[in-house]
Amino acid sequence: MYIPSGLTEIAPGVHAWLPDFPGTWGMANCVLIASGPAALLVDTPYTAALTRSLTAAAHRVLPPQAAISTVVNTHGNGDHSYGNGLFPDAEIISTHANLGHLCAEPEPEQLHALLDQCDSGDLFQRYMLAHFGRYDYQGLKLTPPTRTFTGRLEVEVGSTAVELIEVGPAHTSGDLIVHLPDSQVVCAGDVLFIGDVPVHWAGPLGGVIDACQRILDLDPRIVVPGHGPLVGPAEVSTYMNFIDDVRTRIHALHASGLNTEEAARILLREHQDTDLGLVERLAVLTATEYRHLNQDTTPLELVEVLGAAVRLAPDCVPATVPERAVLLADFHARL
Ligand SMILES: [Zn+2]
Repeated sequence: MYIPSGLTEIAPGVHAWLPDFPGTWGMANCVLIASGPAALLVDTPYTAALTRSLTAAAHRVLPPQAAISTVVNTHGNGDHSYGNGLFPDAEIISTHANLGHLCAEPEPEQLHALLDQCDSGDLFQRYMLAHFGRYDYQGLKLTPPTRTFTGRLEVEVGSTAVELIEVGPAHTSGDLIVHLPDSQVVCAGDVLFIGDVPVHWAGPLGGVIDACQRILDLDPRIVVPGHGPLVGPAEVSTYMNFIDDVRTRIHALHASGLNTEEAARILLREHQDTDLGLVERLAVLTATEYRHLNQDTTPLELVEVLGAAVRLAPDCVPATVPERAVLLADFHARL
């Protein structure tokens, strides 16, 4: 596991910030697109310290007068948007549908307080500490997009054409992908996870498969997932097959009359030997797909859904976890 100290140039003028944190939550990829004095950042990190680290790395590859004047959020989850507030002068672009999703999870300060109060004696709270206890959310304000669109939006970054394509609802209600036609790069956001079982909050899973097909239709050379290493079209196809298998199985379990919890238990048992991390997310995928099959339109509570998933997969929770202060200090020391 490591936090990058610099950016990796994956195509001319396209620089990726690629943390390597398999098997845990929150460390998302970001991409800087630079041309002349203009720069656009795809997604912002989860904390102020991570965002400052990324910004410093960005300025080492940008010309002296350049500024990140545009931020694009692929979706509204905090691990892709909490850093927005550190770009007060930038235009922040996302889909119109993302505005609603920003309310589905705790605000940064709320999440910080919630983690400060977590009791490692409680199963779910210990899980939260193990995966989120390292993050310091102080000083972050929820900063929504300043410009929204539906469907498709083209923007110019210097002389580089950037296409923003709405592909949600899929991972969340308002996902978008970023296409760079000149370099054949696609930033997928969290419609694509590599290395871990994906989590999808909105769905349906058929929407995730369709979103990935939109990526393949662009004939990309490099695909940057929301989490995990860079991939090509072959890995996107493998991922689509995994989602399709899970979707087919959930539909069969639903058709046989099982409730969400019963179906999730079976799915977890069937995937207990998987090489992918965060297997407990299968219970979230089950809950998401069941909401569609049951035409349940009640508002989604992310923490509640995740809590139910963790209780169904208690083996995913470590027996012990360091205190919050130790987790924070250890993580900060890596920066
Ligand atoms: Zn994410």
